[in-house]
Amino acid sequence: MRFSEKNIPGSLNHSLQIKMADEVDDTIFGKIVRKEIPAKFLHEDEQCVVIKDIHPQAPHHFLVVSVKELRKLEDAAETDQKLLGHMMWVATKVAKEIGITNGYRIVINDGHDGGQNVYHLHLHVLGGRKMNWPPG
Ligand code: 5GP
Repeated sequence: MRFSEKNIPGSLNHSLQIKMADEVDDTIFGKIVRKEIPAKFLHEDEQCVVIKDIHPQAPHHFLVVSVKELRKLEDAAETDQKLLGHMMWVATKVAKEIGITNGYRIVINDGHDGGQNVYHLHLHVLGGRKMNWPPG
């Protein structure tokens, strides 16, 4: 990731920070999807890949990452409905395959207020412990 909303110098005003983050067109996930950097895939098809989160927030924490370089859910078009459904289905498939048997949480952090850090569409799947509500 060349820029994130975290690593832009604090002297920039908030709207400019958001604008700069919005202009970023490549991310670490883009490089992973394009296989420019190595990653172990739990699942791979023409629409999405699944990787373990590098900083797991639960005993099981994996990410379903779109192959299409959609920056965030908000940017999804009507024609992306099949992709979005597929990513949800892959989340459930991989959860079964890795043996998450007692439920899990699926999260999309979307945009600045959603807490998104990597601007390439991905679902988080967290399991292996009881989740809290409301989330922070
Ligand atoms: P976001 O905050 O955008 O919803 O989630 C980004 C997630 O990507 C975070 O949970 C973070 O730990 C994870 N992440 C960031 N960089 C890497 C990386 O290089 N590899 C993997 N596997 N996960 C990453």
